[in-house]
Amino acid sequence: MEKKNEKSLKKICAVVRVLFSTAARRYPWFFVLEAVQMLVQAAQPFLGIFITPLLVDELCGRRDIRTLAGYVAVLIVGEMMLNLLYERLSTVLQMYQQRLEDYFTMQTGLHSMGLDFQMTEDKKVLDQLEKAQTGMSWYSGGAYGVAEQVFGFFRNILKMSGLVTVIAMHAPMLLVVILAYVALNALSVSARNKVELEAYGRLAQSNRLFGYFGWQLVDFRFGKDIRLYDARRMLVGRWQQYTRKSSDTWKWQAQKTYPYNLFSGGMALLRSLATYFYAGLLVIRGAFSIGIFTQMISTAGELDNTLNGLVWNVLNLAKRCNYAYEYVLFMEYPEVIPKGDVPVAAGEHRIEFRNVAFAYPGTDKKVLDGVNITVEPGEHLSVVGLNGAGKTTFIKLLCRLYDPTEGEILMDGRNIKEYDYKEYMAQFAPVFQDFRLFGFSIGENITFGGEGQEALERLLKLVELDDMVGKLEKGADTRIFKMFEEDGIEPSGGEQQKLAIARALYKKAPVIILDEPTAALDPIAEYEIYRQFHTLVGEKTAFYISHRLSSCRFCDRIAVFSGGKIAEYGSHDELVQIPDGIYAGMFEAQAQYYR
Ligand code: ADP
Repeated sequence: MEKKNEKSLKKICAVVRVLFSTAARRYPWFFVLEAVQMLVQAAQPFLGIFITPLLVDELCGRRDIRTLAGYVAVLIVGEMMLNLLYERLSTVLQMYQQRLEDYFTMQTGLHSMGLDFQMTEDKKVLDQLEKAQTGMSWYSGGAYGVAEQVFGFFRNILKMSGLVTVIAMHAPMLLVVILAYVALNALSVSARNKVELEAYGRLAQSNRLFGYFGWQLVDFRFGKDIRLYDARRMLVGRWQQYTRKSSDTWKWQAQKTYPYNLFSGGMALLRSLATYFYAGLLVIRGAFSIGIFTQMISTAGELDNTLNGLVWNVLNLAKRCNYAYEYVLFMEYPEVIPKGDVPVAAGEHRIEFRNVAFAYPGTDKKVLDGVNITVEPGEHLSVVGLNGAGKTTFIKLLCRLYDPTEGEILMDGRNIKEYDYKEYMAQFAPVFQDFRLFGFSIGENITFGGEGQEALERLLKLVELDDMVGKLEKGADTRIFKMFEEDGIEPSGGEQQKLAIARALYKKAPVIILDEPTAALDPIAEYEIYRQFHTLVGEKTAFYISHRLSSCRFCDRIAVFSGGKIAEYGSHDELVQIPDGIYAGMFEAQAQYYR
């Protein structure tokens, strides 16, 4: 139990430190105004507590109209002013709720985009991202929700000190009754929180899954497949399955917490009875006036609320911090890829794989095993092999999206791990099979906001999109997809690939990689792209992965991957000569269709 409390405290401290230190720097006024509001709220009940007994005793005694009017005036004007101040502060503070949420959503996004790539293929990391996102908004209320509890805690401490003093002056025994009630109630609230916490853990996975199906159902890009393969029923079915799973969890939570809620209600009733009885007895015995009786009743009620509020603040702070701690964990995800600091020399590079073996994290199967190859500066290498032979993995290792499990990769004679990671990444302009275009303009998708209208036009011409773009009213400023604008365009698969290729060429990196990016192009367009590409890539080093072996003819060397190794290596003319060779067989099989 103690260990658990310690853990909770550690989480609270970590969350408060991270959320407040970042948010306080960005939004200092939020904290100043929260503190002022805290003081206003702490003062609010005391006006009534001090003025009402005077009013009651005056009514029971002298009944002087001017004195009565004075009390009423102080009470009403005072409360009105405090209320106005409170409401004004609340309005201003509410604006910060969205701002803080946006700020932390942005931080999560920035961090997830900066994570080492291999983590984005790790289910645990995806779960953690989901937990961080929901933990920071939906469940915990984020920095705003945590701040509410922290300031609420201090407000209730202030209030409690005042209220305890008032009661101790007249009926200290009442404090015992109230404390006993609050202690019992705290146990019930704590048990309820445990149930909620367990439900949260259960919900993270099913939320991710039903979110996935939910999004696919409304994503137009899946439209064709969904209709033609009649996938609608299956998607809706799965979606319902996970929705059911989460609503079952909510139901389970409601049933489990119901008895605790009932218990809390019963206890409050008993506490009230005991207070009336004891304070009434003291009045009958002449220990204090009716005015003080009303003061004791209202102060006891207020103290009750305050102490419960305090328990609520502590437990809720622990609960919210428990959720928000997932954000802290996510933001602390360590870098898995060691990053060196050696600067990369300008110009072309010599790349060498030495006895490289690789198994994906969490698997034993060596996808690559004993890969040895050297690519000279400016060389064009074609990478060929059947599906699953490890071609893409080879490229991922080259780009340092993963590090080899065994062996090493060298650039200009130095292990690539020693280079400054960003500089190393800057050497490559890849077009992956699963490249993505963004909902930006055509131009932005190529230049990402970089300079060079001329370069853009040249590249569009090169990938033969100049005609298509020329016909558009807004030219290269036309948005891709219809997410943001009605007149956005939906480029064909081939056009999308051409745009992705133009993007890679714009990067001006010394090494160009095309991972089957021309699969959606017709053979003539593909041939043209490769031919022109060749002229354009020119001196640069290039890696091409293609299933269409006709494109290999443009390359200096061809590496044929099979069984995790480079089974054949040489020029096109050399490889077609190998009797029963893999390349020769593949080439022959494809050539039939072109003859
Ligand atoms: P190719 O590009 O030649 O078609 P890949 O390099 O994509 O082949 O894949 C090689 C093998 O690695 C395949 O068996 C594939 O299932 C496996 N693989 C690819 N990506 C992952 C991953 N992220 N985690 C685990 N296995 C993977």
